Amino acid sequence: CAPLLKNLSDEHEMELLGQDLAKGLDSLKDLIKEKGLTIRLNGDLGAGKTTLTRAILRGLGYQRRVKSPTFSLLEIYKLEAFTLNHFDFYRFETPEEFEDAGFRENYGPGQVTISEWTSKAEPFVPEADVEIDITQGADEQTREVKISACSEVAQNLLAKIK
Ligand code: ADP
Ligand code: MG
Repeated sequence: CAPLLKNLSDEHEMELLGQDLAKGLDSLKDLIKEKGLTIRLNGDLGAGKTTLTRAILRGLGYQRRVKSPTFSLLEIYKLEAFTLNHFDFYRFETPEEFEDAGFRENYGPGQVTISEWTSKAEPFVPEADVEIDITQGADEQTREVKISACSEVAQNLLAKIK
């Protein structure tokens, strides 16, 4: 499965990408109800992982505050179509914390689970359907985004945002 590459010139374009992903997720809600969907966000501190997640939530109609789960590890948003879980594993000292906290329950049918710093929870964290790599470009505002989606449900999502 070939990745989708996007060059974004500013934060507004990241928000538009989030809106497109939200539309795609919304159109896949029946599949999500059945199987769930996982998105893994990769990128350095300040790349825009939380900004993209916030944009996805806005696109799904969530209007309240979306804060980074840096300290809480997990923020849960109960939306009409599905539950969206937003993880940030940055503060994990050992990956076993994933098992100890019972975070496996936040993956599966009826749930979209988006995670930052996922490698800190490996090998316990379930595999991602969609991987999004964000890297800073030549200046402050620009980002290169690579979206890889290999599972069937994820290919469907990608088709929606092309
Ligand atoms: P991360 O979660 O990856 O650590 P954040 O989303 O918290 O990153 O922070 C990204 C920062 O970069 C924000 O302050 C945001 O305003 C800024 N920014 C500037 N340009 C962009 C862009 N094109 N996309 C996303 N964020 C951007
Ligand atoms: Mg973040």
